[in-house]
Amino acid sequence: MIIIMLGAPGTGKGTVASILQEKLNIKHIATGDIFRKNIKEKTELGMLAEKYIIDGDLVPDDITIKVVEDRLNKPDIENGIILDGFPRTVRQAQELDIILQKKGKKVDRVINLVTPDEEIIERTINRRVCSNQECREVYNLLLKRPKIEGICDVCGSKLIKRKDDTEETVRTRLKTYFEQTSPLVEYYEKQGNLMTQQVSKSINKLGKDVAEDIVKILNNK
Ligand code: ADP
Ligand code: ZN
Repeated sequence: MIIIMLGAPGTGKGTVASILQEKLNIKHIATGDIFRKNIKEKTELGMLAEKYIIDGDLVPDDITIKVVEDRLNKPDIENGIILDGFPRTVRQAQELDIILQKKGKKVDRVINLVTPDEEIIERTINRRVCSNQECREVYNLLLKRPKIEGICDVCGSKLIKRKDDTEETVRTRLKTYFEQTSPLVEYYEKQGNLMTQQVSKSINKLGKDVAEDIVKILNNK
């Protein structure tokens, strides 16, 4: 099963994907996490990607597609994958279709998360993430506080704020999303595998509630 998480920054793609990884026993692959790991380790890829990420722009397609293609060549994805944060441009989506085709696979489901902009901004500037790359648990000072301030409940590591989670960068990331990524909604609608879900406190639905609904829908098929 190949699932894609689509949606603007801060809609809860990562939260939904990590629950689906557990429940469906498939691999969660997040391009943002791959880039952040490389930035931390100061690899060539990390140095290249960092300036785009800090500015709220997309890392160029050629670089990003290569990263994903390499990742999809590893053997641990045989049971299935959830791609979180990829594709983000029509070109990435087309290249992904080609990469999968070569492996005799295709995109099975696209989960499109939708949240009002002001709620996205409030949510991202209050987001904190576990600094331990193996853990990556996500917290929120408004919605999901850690038991001890600044410390991860799961592994005890320090929580950090992502450098790109400032109001200014989030507004740029939203603009980037609407210009370059939102055309993918139509792209996958045409393929007939799009499933749109609202994630908003106004309807009492956060990422974990949406993930439960999705598991039910997928298991009923
Ligand atoms: P969010 O969904 O909250 O914006 P991500 O962790 O998915 O966060 O992405 C962080 C940043 O990494 C993006 O703003 C972008 O600069 C870069 N990035 C991640 N995935 C891609 C991609 N598929 N193409 C280009 N850049 C990407
Ligand atoms: Zn942790």
